[in-house]
Amino acid sequence: MAWLLIVLSIFLCWLASLCKIYHASYSSSRTTFLTESKHKRNILLVIAHPDDESMFFSPTISYLTSNGHNLYVLCISTGNADGMGNTRNEELYQACAVLKVPLHQIKVLDNPELQDGFRKVWDHGLLAKIIEEEVASKTIDSILTFDSYGISGHCNHKDVHHGKALECVTEKNRSLGAR
Ligand SMILES: [Zn+2]
Repeated sequence: MAWLLIVLSIFLCWLASLCKIYHASYSSSRTTFLTESKHKRNILLVIAHPDDESMFFSPTISYLTSNGHNLYVLCISTGNADGMGNTRNEELYQACAVLKVPLHQIKVLDNPELQDGFRKVWDHGLLAKIIEEEVASKTIDSILTFDSYGISGHCNHKDVHHGKALECVTEKNRSLGAR
């Protein structure tokens, strides 16, 4: 009798797993954001350094460009902490060519206040202003960037996240008519 209960338990577990998988695949097939939508988006990827695009975002970039979305890359610094800024800059363009991002849609900044480095604190207000200008000039409708931990924990990545967040708050207040 005990063996029957064991077999029945295993069967029920298998059935529950099957239901879970079915439900997950059904849910994802209903997702329309950036997949089934006929509206192709203008997406701005904001990164801190050349190579961030490859290390942290290449699967997403590849997915977006292969689905016809229009991707812009804004790189906040040349990544010159070790004097390799020019090389890293060139590598960014090469990576973007592979990822099918139009090269004229890549912008790399070299602002004295936003230089690569673990001890460099980037001004969130300045970042928000820069991102806001890009959003307005390219009619961007989606922004892609680091999470609050900066993905890897690098302080420049975190600052980019907070700059983007500040830009969103400013934009929201503006659209609500706040002063
Ligand atoms: Zn980085």
